[in-house]
Amino acid sequence: MTSSLSPLHILASVAGLASLFALAACAPAEEGGLEDVEITGQVNIYSSRHYDTDLALYEDFTRATGIKVNRIEAGADALIERIVSEGEYSPADLLITVDAGRLWRAVDAGVLAPIESETLAERVPESLRHPDGLWFGLSTRARIIIANASAVDTSGLQSYADLADPAFKGQVCMRSSTNIYNISLLSSVIAHAGEEAAQTWANGVVANFKRPPQGNDTVNIEAVASGECGVSLVNTYYLARYADKPEILDKLTIIFPNQGEGETGTHVNVSGAGLTKSAPNRANAIRFLEYLTESKAQQYFANGNNEYPAVVGVAPTSFVEELGEFRSDTLSTATIGAGQAKAVAIYDAAGWN
Ligand code: FE
Repeated sequence: MTSSLSPLHILASVAGLASLFALAACAPAEEGGLEDVEITGQVNIYSSRHYDTDLALYEDFTRATGIKVNRIEAGADALIERIVSEGEYSPADLLITVDAGRLWRAVDAGVLAPIESETLAERVPESLRHPDGLWFGLSTRARIIIANASAVDTSGLQSYADLADPAFKGQVCMRSSTNIYNISLLSSVIAHAGEEAAQTWANGVVANFKRPPQGNDTVNIEAVASGECGVSLVNTYYLARYADKPEILDKLTIIFPNQGEGETGTHVNVSGAGLTKSAPNRANAIRFLEYLTESKAQQYFANGNNEYPAVVGVAPTSFVEELGEFRSDTLSTATIGAGQAKAVAIYDAAGWN
């Protein structure tokens, strides 16, 4: 092993990792257990997803292959930073995260390696994977409009552009522009309509704000349901969290934007995974990634968080199905990721904090 890292740095890093993997091993106990499984290999996953269903998925893979899944969970930016600082000694095999913007950051940080896999190329639609195989989308979510019909005239809400219509002055509530979902959405507007149009749109939305941006998608769902706000934007899977709360859900008008003829379709984004450059268990990692695109795994992965499975033909949950069919924006996820810096500058200029 050659490295520019000092021995002290390596020691610190290894010690840190050992404690982190120990932490991961203490995470919620496995249903059914894996005591009977003969472990023949391992794969190390750095993931910013934390769903119980993901755990079931990992165990299912171990039972089928004998490959043990070790995981470290943290925020995406922290994981990317960690892989960078661990350098060639990073034990990470796969990075799993949400949003094209974060996958793009991982590419930009140079931590991902290309995969050539017929299985992945066949199962993951082209618009949901990196053109050079640096990452693959595994599930998608749509960013849609929610409105309170007793607060606003919802017939005037058909597209993202309408959020900037003065008709909705004092009605629009949003989360912060530093949030990756909003950054990716604006990045798609830039890609479709150009920077000037994107700036005009952001300015118009800010002019319609009811209050300064605050909270997350959940907070804004509840603000719209209560009538405090007339309209907001949310990712589809958050709505599923209110499936048994009709007092919230029934108050919302749900609009898949940009469905009109000649319009772009609704903005969708991905949860995805990429192989790391330093992956010590490269073959196992590719095998795991391919496994994630099998029908059963797709259901665990996507349905655990009420997302749309990336693989065509796999059914979403009944809640997601009931949201109805829509036309998605086919803009490549890689393009959405690449426009982040411009999007941030435009939000800043608009005063959308
Ligand atoms: Fe989210």
